[in-house]
Amino acid sequence: MKEIIVYFHPDCLLQNNGDNHPERKHRLEVILQMINKIKKIKISIKKSPLAKLEIINLVHPKKYIEEIFLLIPKSGLQGIEKEPYADTYLCPDSKNAILRSCGAGIASADTIMKDNNKRTFCLIRPPGHHAETIRANGFCFINNVAVTARYLQQKYKINKVAIVDFDVHHGNGSQEIFYNDKTVSYGSIHQSPLFPGTGLEEEIGVGNIFNAPIKSGINGKEFISIFNNKILAKLDKFKPEVILISAGFDAHKRDPLANINLNSKDFYHITKGIVQIAENHSQGRIISFLEGGYDLVALSESAYQHLLALAEI
Ligand SMILES: [Zn+2]
Repeated sequence: MKEIIVYFHPDCLLQNNGDNHPERKHRLEVILQMINKIKKIKISIKKSPLAKLEIINLVHPKKYIEEIFLLIPKSGLQGIEKEPYADTYLCPDSKNAILRSCGAGIASADTIMKDNNKRTFCLIRPPGHHAETIRANGFCFINNVAVTARYLQQKYKINKVAIVDFDVHHGNGSQEIFYNDKTVSYGSIHQSPLFPGTGLEEEIGVGNIFNAPIKSGINGKEFISIFNNKILAKLDKFKPEVILISAGFDAHKRDPLANINLNSKDFYHITKGIVQIAENHSQGRIISFLEGGYDLVALSESAYQHLLALAEI
C-alpha cells in the first residue's frame, strides 16, 4: 500500500463563481469530510503552497498570467469568456486559489519524486484541464496538470509524462498544450458531443494524443471496456515515467452536467487500471488532480473509491 498525501489549501474554498454555479466550494468540503473519516488507507492532508510564476511560465506566457490577474475584480465577479459558454469567473480571492491549485501539483511532484512510497491527490479548485496556453475557459485559468508535467521534465529530467483524463469533458487545454510534443502523452475518455467540443478520435497530435469520445447514456461496463482498449492499451505502449491523472467525477450517473451512467465503484476500477500501468512502467509514480464532478454525493463517494485504488499497488 502507498501513503496518500492530499494537497489542499483553504484559499481554494474562496474561489467564487456566484450563486447556483456548479463549481462551488462545497465540492471540496464534502471530499474533505470524507477524507477525515477514512480508516482503510494511510492518508494525510498537507497545505498546498503558492505556485511560483516562473514555474507556471513553463506552460503559460507571463503576459497571459498577468492579464488574468489584472482582470480580478475588487468586488463582485468578472466573467472572462464570451458566449455561448460565459461561465468562467474571477472573484476578489481568485489569485491565491489559482496559485494554490497549481502549487498542489508542483508540491506533489517533489513529494512523489523524493518518496516512492507516496502518491498524491490535489484537492483543488479552480480546476485546470480546459485552460489552454493563452485561453482561460471551462472554469479553468492555469492548466495545473500541464504545469506539473513540465516541472517534472525540467526539475527531475523526466523524459516521458502521461496525462490520463477521465473527466466527462475533454481536456481541450491539456491537448492543445502538448499537441506537438512526443514527450507528453494525453489520453482522454469523454462524452461527445459535449463542451468543449474537441477530442475527436482523429485528433492524434504527433501520435501522442489518444481520444475516446463516448455517446451519452453508456454504463460503467461499456465505459471501462472503452477506457481499457482506447486509453490504457496506448498508455501501456507509451511507457510513461510518471502518470498524472485529470480526475473528474462528472461521468457519474448523478452528475448534472453530463449523461454518462457510472456508479461510484466504477471509479475504483478505472483508477486501478491506471495504477497497474504505473506499477509496470512508472515506478508506481502517480499524481492525481481533481477536475470536475458536480453532484456532491457522487463526488464524495467517487473520490473515495478513487483514493482507495490510488493507495494500492
Ligand atoms: Zn468535467
